[in-house]
Parts: sequence; structure tokens; C-alpha cells
Amino acid sequence: MTTNKDFSRYLRQTIFPGIGQTGQQKLSEARVVIIGCGATGTVIANHLARAGVGHLIIADRDFVELNNLQRQLLFDEQDLVQNLPKAVAAERKLRAVNSDIEVQGLATDVNAENIESLIEGATVVLDGTDNFETRYILNDACLKHKIPWIYTGAVATYGMSQTIIPGQTACFRCYFEDVPPPGTSATCDTAGVVGPVVAAIASVSATEAIKLMVGQGDLNRGIIHFDVWYNTFEQFESSGPREDCPACQQGNFEFLNQEKGGQAVSLCGRNAIQIRQPGAGQLPLSELADRLSRVGNVTARNDYLLRFSVDDYEITLFADARAIIKGTEDETVARGLYAKYVGV
Ligand SMILES: [Zn+2]
Repeated sequence: MTTNKDFSRYLRQTIFPGIGQTGQQKLSEARVVIIGCGATGTVIANHLARAGVGHLIIADRDFVELNNLQRQLLFDEQDLVQNLPKAVAAERKLRAVNSDIEVQGLATDVNAENIESLIEGATVVLDGTDNFETRYILNDACLKHKIPWIYTGAVATYGMSQTIIPGQTACFRCYFEDVPPPGTSATCDTAGVVGPVVAAIASVSATEAIKLMVGQGDLNRGIIHFDVWYNTFEQFESSGPREDCPACQQGNFEFLNQEKGGQAVSLCGRNAIQIRQPGAGQLPLSELADRLSRVGNVTARNDYLLRFSVDDYEITLFADARAIIKGTEDETVARGLYAKYVGV
């Protein structure tokens, strides 16, 4: 492959024979979608932007908070001051890192209704979420559209990575058959997480993505699992897809078709509920800010979100009509607050 592009900024990876000019050209033509831009997502996005992936799409539903800065490497205190959604802060940061590539940050919830249009045309999709439900939807959608995707998980001091290639490897449901019942699996919010383990496992997944895009190297065809606190490093070989897997063997996309799971509303142990209003259109944030300042305390307002506190609740409204309501884990209470202050 010949190219006239100037790849000099990538010199350190193009002199590595596994990538070279040809691999760099492939990276520059690739389209990568990262679902979730928290601890693992920021590390993955950072690596891939610096590596010169030509089109990077980053979707995240949340905003930057103080306790994110311990491990979410793309964010800083200025993002907090500006109350930025993570997708917006990540896009700004990565544009400053590499102006040769296209970066698009989408402050949106990723769910069964929008995932297929989001991943359309992707070379590879990466999981940067913190929840099983979105991963099952992602698994279904990527199998259906035959797009490779990479799972990354990190809790406490261990991390896991799995590369899923439709038609070749086991899928996510081959290993994790069903959503664990609430309270049975460790999450970052109950077990904590040590920053460097996140960066370590997310770097493994980012490397898997690079190998996939350039078509070189040995892909992980099982599960890589390590614990950086106790120094255990393992790669579980896979015997291939599980014969009775509903997703990759039977083509039953139960999560994508919403036969299983619901609207992912409870936000992973944060005493917060997300309310989605599909089809509600855009919220008039300026008008709402005026109205809400009469009943509560408006604490943040920018082009992307409006935050106000009332009683013991903190309600963040996004332009796409979503809300994250802190101070409750009861969906009914959260929906009631949304109806009361925003309308239905
Ligand atoms: Zn499967």
C-alpha cells in the first residue's frame, strides 16, 4: 500500500515491523466506537487517539465528578469546574492530543434502541462501560452486524479482557451466560478499584484493537485475567463458542430485542437513577434553568447540561432529555421527581 500521508508523528510505532507504514495507513482509515468513557474508556480512547485511529467515536452518558480523577486519565479539575459531560471533555482533550484524526464525543445513553446506528460501519467496538446490561446489548449488536468487539472489566485489583470476533471466537454470553442477580457481583462501587489496574487491563484491550485493525500479532482468543496486587497473570484458552449459546449460536439477540433486561436505570451503586425519555427531543435548558431557579438551587448550567438541587436530591438534566437523579435508588421516586420538575 502506498500513501502520501505524513506519519512522522507515529514514527515509534511505524518502525515496529508489526505496524509499519501499512499498519499506520490501516489505523488512519479505521473507525472505532468506544462505549462508555470512564476508567477503562479514557485509557482506551487516549491510546487509540495517540496511535492515529482516523475516526474515533466516544459515547458516554455521565458527567465528570471529583472521584473520577483518581483513575479516569483524560479528565482534570477544569472539566469539573466546567461541569462537562465526559464525552465532551474527552473529545476536547483528544482533539488537543491529535488534530490529524476525527474525534466525536456523544453525551448519550447507549441502549438497545440506538446501539445499531452508533456502531454502523465500525472496524472495532470497545467496551468502556461499568455494567453487564450494556455489555449484553453490545454483544448482541456486534454479533448481528459481524463487528469485532473487546470487553474490558476492572474491579479492585484485577482486570479482564476478552476479544470477540463474530463467527470465530466465543462471545461474551458464552462465558457470562446471564446478567448476575443484583448484589452478587463485585462492582467498583462496592469493592473499589486501584487506578493502575484499570490502565493495565485497558491497555491490553487497546493493543488488541490495534492488532485487529492492522491485521498483525496474536489476538487473545480466550480471556486474559490478571491481579496486579497478588501478581497473578493468566490467559484462559477458549475451546470456542459454547454450543448452546443463545447469542452467537442460536442468533437470539434477547438483549438487543429487549426480551431480556430493562432500561438500565440504576447507576452502579452511586445512589443515583438515570431517567431516559426516548423520543422526547431536546430539552430547552435555558427556559428550564429560569423556571427551576425558583424552586431549587441551580448549581451548574452549560450547553450540555443543567444541574439543580432540591430537598436532598441533585438532578442533572442533559440536552437529550435524560436526567441523572442523585439521592435515591428508587426508580419510582426518581420518575416522580422528573415528572414534577421537568414534566413527562
Ligand atoms: Zn456465544
